[in-house]
Amino acid sequence: MTKPHHLTRNIIVGMALGIATGTILNRVGVDGPVAGFLVNDVFPLIGSVFIRSLQLLVVPLVLLSLITGTAALEDVRRLGRIGAKTLAFYLVTTAIAISIAIGLGLLLRPGAGFELDHTSDFSVADSPPFSQVLLNIFPSNPFAAMAEGNMLQVIVFAILFGLAICLSGDAGKRVLAIAADLNEVVLKLVSLLLLAAPFGVFALIARTFAQEGFGAILALGQYFFLVLLALVVHGTVVYGGLLALFARVSPLRFFKKMRKVQLFAFSTASSNATIPVTLETVEKRVGVNRAVASFTVPLGATVNMDGTAIMQGVATVFIAQALGIDIGLQGYLMVILTATLASIGTAGVPGVGLVMLAMVFQQVGLPVAAIGVIYGVDRLLDMVRTAVNVTGDAVTSVIVARGEKEFDEAVWATDHSD
Ligand code: ASP
Repeated sequence: MTKPHHLTRNIIVGMALGIATGTILNRVGVDGPVAGFLVNDVFPLIGSVFIRSLQLLVVPLVLLSLITGTAALEDVRRLGRIGAKTLAFYLVTTAIAISIAIGLGLLLRPGAGFELDHTSDFSVADSPPFSQVLLNIFPSNPFAAMAEGNMLQVIVFAILFGLAICLSGDAGKRVLAIAADLNEVVLKLVSLLLLAAPFGVFALIARTFAQEGFGAILALGQYFFLVLLALVVHGTVVYGGLLALFARVSPLRFFKKMRKVQLFAFSTASSNATIPVTLETVEKRVGVNRAVASFTVPLGATVNMDGTAIMQGVATVFIAQALGIDIGLQGYLMVILTATLASIGTAGVPGVGLVMLAMVFQQVGLPVAAIGVIYGVDRLLDMVRTAVNVTGDAVTSVIVARGEKEFDEAVWATDHSD
């Protein structure tokens, strides 16, 4: 069995082997019986078991840690302040992300001269009205919310339950003790299941690289690399700056601690499936206290998607330029607003970014079918942007925790071996 302190290293090895295997399979072709069997049957099976084992833990973990976290806060007003700060940071960082993307796009003009053939049949269902999105936050049945994995509803229920525990005297104390014990057990389960991660990561990455190949990237090089550039700028300069400015902690130390989370996000392309790892890291390695971590992390995985917003910004500029359409300053402001709002209420699962992009396109009058052009490279970008998405959640978590004095300096100062 893998030793826990070698986990990150083994995940990196799994990833490297996955990239190598996938690339080779892509070269030799996946039509042969053995390659086909691996890519279509074996890898998806192992990869899906891995993702399921992460998802398995998301609801119990969020529920229990948020209940125990809220109950420990013992103050409704503080909770309100933490909530307001968190949401404000999430919205502002997303708006910054998309502005950087649009700015770089206007500067470097990736779509100028690009031959656009948008005869694809990319289409999306109509998005629900915003009032419906808001209404959907409120649960009518906690069990249904958990069964459906509706994170916003689970969050609301857990907070209310935690508050009620605070107000219930001795009975509340007894329930809290049970919830705290259960939470420990679930956390243990997380670390046990994570031991299988190197294999899961290998399978997911090998399959993606076997299917995608590099040909598609070359054809859309300008778009692809500009999205990457904007992701890197936001993920390092903006996050680093925010951490140094608002939390007064070393960005380098933070990024080192976040490596495992980013690897998970990259290989699963799902902020949601990464929640157990993000939560564990932010709490046990970075030092954010449970009350703040258990609120900011699941909420961020659901509503905060800076990496996704970056892709949307670049995609809008790229397609507009390729079609020779000038959507003007007002159009771009509209893009910033729509993409920022659209990220609320959209689950952190693979590929949702493109669906949300369709909403943005509709708002500014670009043809939704043109999204088909960038579809081919989206999976790889999805992996990178998801890593940025989860990093953004953790950055806000640290900033809020430091501001609220809910930050454990001793944990932050400790070097964890994996
Ligand atoms: N896969 C992304 C996430 O889970 C969302 C997206 O951009 O498609 O955060």
